[in-house]
Amino acid sequence: MEKDGLTIVYTGKGKGKTTAALGIALRATGYDKKICMIQFIKGSWHYGEMDSSKLLEPKFEMITVGKGFVGIIDDKSPKEDHEKIAKEAVKVSSEKIQSGKYDIVILDEINYAVNLELITVNDVLDLIKSKPNKVDLVLTGNYAKDEVIEIADLVTEMREIKHPFQKGIKAKKGIDF
Ligand code: ATP
Ligand code: MG
Repeated sequence: MEKDGLTIVYTGKGKGKTTAALGIALRATGYDKKICMIQFIKGSWHYGEMDSSKLLEPKFEMITVGKGFVGIIDDKSPKEDHEKIAKEAVKVSSEKIQSGKYDIVILDEINYAVNLELITVNDVLDLIKSKPNKVDLVLTGNYAKDEVIEIADLVTEMREIKHPFQKGIKAKKGIDF
């Protein structure tokens, strides 16, 4: 018998949160599961997973709301614009979670969106509390709120021990993006 769906949180300063979520997606497609990943915050960079996710369609679906969150970190548009998109992403997430179409829903960087005060912790708690029992929910991003950690079943904190960035080594294609 399948266990009930889990709420999984990857947080912390160390690298590997989004990578871990993508790892679950890769693993789960091996069992014919359906996965949806909603990206809450992305810079204007191109990420490899935007293309590799297409190779796993229709089992794996990746969604960027609005203009793809272009430039939350590197653009100067007003906070209200980002807020609007983040709220829209919450709405889309809710629809996807409730749709019955997916076994696993990944909310990438949602913790960070709360930390930036684009959405509230209650938005996140509502998504978790209202999820169908069998759906696994994965939330990533640093600064996960205590309330989210409390309600989750599995929480891993990525702790930075070393990062090449400290030596001035820039982000690497296929490893970082
Ligand atoms: P990844 O997407 O590599 O799994 P992440 O999801 O844990 O990283 P984010 O906070 O989403 O981390 O950061 C996104 C980008 O910043 C990625 O390119 C990642 O490699 C890089 N990064 C992650 N952690 C660090 C760090 N401690 N120092 C510098 N850069 C980092
Ligand atoms: Mg990430």
